[in-house]
Amino acid sequence: MMGVSHAIMSFALVYGVTGKAVPASLASAGALFPDWIERVVYGKKWMKHHRKWSHWFVPYLGLAWWISRHMEGVPLSSILKKLEGTLYLSLDAPTAKMALGFVSFWLLVGCLLHVLEDAFFGPVPVFIPWRKHRLVFQLFKTGGMAESVIVRLALVGAVALRYVDSTRLIAG
Ligand SMILES: [Zn+2]
Repeated sequence: MMGVSHAIMSFALVYGVTGKAVPASLASAGALFPDWIERVVYGKKWMKHHRKWSHWFVPYLGLAWWISRHMEGVPLSSILKKLEGTLYLSLDAPTAKMALGFVSFWLLVGCLLHVLEDAFFGPVPVFIPWRKHRLVFQLFKTGGMAESVIVRLALVGAVALRYVDSTRLIAG
């Protein structure tokens, strides 16, 4: 998947689930990291090392879990049920540490979504960072027409879902 598609898709997924634009924008920026770091480390030869250690979900998930535990006192899985917690603060975080935790958490979510999205476009590492596995039958080709259509549909879908949700709240 191309960088811009990762950014749009990750925004759409986080916005669709949380309805919050700030976490969604941070996840969108974080989604650029796994490919960006490959380019920084390997320069022009980055394609030879594509989707290896930088696409291993374990460090991202571990850090996200650690931050969420530290900030919320709850494991990762309960965060989605706890939509009003500290991790959903926008820019009015009470302390610098909280703000840093908030920003890091959503950037990491973006990295994780990048890896998940890439799994539909080819093999990614699972158990060890230097060995790639095909998790999902490869559905799409990177840079293809389907890719740009799907990410835009996801974005429209997320915004529509949130709009319907908010009007229902007002009506109810
Ligand atoms: Zn990638």
